[in-house]
Amino acid sequence: MTTSLVSGGAGFLGSHLCERLLSEGHRVICADNLDTGTLENIEHIRSENFEFLQHDVTEHLELDGTVDYVFHLASPASPIDYLRLPLHTLKVGSYGTHNMLGLAKKHRARFLLASTSEVYGDPQVHPQSETYWGHVNPIGPRGVYDEAKRYAEALTMAYHRQQGVDTHIVRIFNTYGPRMRPHDGRAVPTFMRQALESKPITVFGDGSQTRSFCYVSDLIEGFLRLVNSDMHEPVNIGNPGEFTILELAEAVIRLTGSSSEIVHEALPQDDPQVRQPDITLARELLDWEPEVELEEGLTRTLSYGGLVPTS
Ligand code: NAD
Ligand code: UDP
Repeated sequence: MTTSLVSGGAGFLGSHLCERLLSEGHRVICADNLDTGTLENIEHIRSENFEFLQHDVTEHLELDGTVDYVFHLASPASPIDYLRLPLHTLKVGSYGTHNMLGLAKKHRARFLLASTSEVYGDPQVHPQSETYWGHVNPIGPRGVYDEAKRYAEALTMAYHRQQGVDTHIVRIFNTYGPRMRPHDGRAVPTFMRQALESKPITVFGDGSQTRSFCYVSDLIEGFLRLVNSDMHEPVNIGNPGEFTILELAEAVIRLTGSSSEIVHEALPQDDPQVRQPDITLARELLDWEPEVELEEGLTRTLSYGGLVPTS
């Protein structure tokens, strides 16, 4: 039986990945310190093929037996989380990635790093292809996340080049779907919670900044195609459909039938003005492209529920 380790498996993306791997007959070990993930996220997949380890990946991890895949997703991901946990974010990108790469090397496992479109920073090239080196402010507040991921990419490439580890790097563009926390601070769950509670929708700045939103099932399909490919350099996985944040807020209001008004709040420092993946590489190498468009994905997320806190 194929065994996969998923670090950060109790988080939003990790729980969907664990679910997909179990459905394909893998044995799954989920290592998570529950900083931003929850046991509720994995309650429905508890079974004899699923093991949860409460573990901080900045600490060494030994596993007995065979490990075929290491999916390294552990890291704070939402701006409010990494701004609250700046040193931890740097440590999980460095020590955490080092530990997971060491584990993959020991077990001769395929390794996937969950990197991010944030490696492109506030981009001066649009859309962003993998050849763009980015425009990141290393000492700004977002630097703790962006630079941790850039370092994690460098470490991963070094393990591949020097140690021969079968590594893969996915640059994830804004992904959304069921099980995002209502208070996780990212635009999609925040706007949905606010709309469902008839509270003002907080658009930062004038809302003209853009993002390209990918539905979670599309992303997970991209993960699996990439980790099983021969591609060792980073690959963008995201939906090229680009929207302003104001358009996103309006779509959420329309789909929820909410009476909420849009209010404008200060734009956070270094908030990227534009973001859109060039997915030529994913199309050509992995025969991958997204299938779920924004309205459909938002509707699925809303119908799943859980966006209004119960307490
Ligand atoms: P999330 O916050 O829901 O999940 C992160 C998980 O990692 C949580 O379960 C958390 O408890 C765990 N974690 C954090 N530090 C840990 C540590 N030291 N040891 C063990 N577990 C730890 O966020 P997510 O959106 O699911 O993000 C998952 C990964 O994907 C992250 O690496 C993130 O940087 C990356 N990513 C996500 C997006 C997105 O749009 N969702 C975009 C780009 C990159
Ligand atoms: N945003 C917003 N209101 C919110 C949360 C986010 O206007 O309540 C904006 C944020 O400034 C950014 C965009 O929405 O321009 C996407 O933010 P998110 O945190 O979802 O992702 P990231 O900035 O990491 O792309």
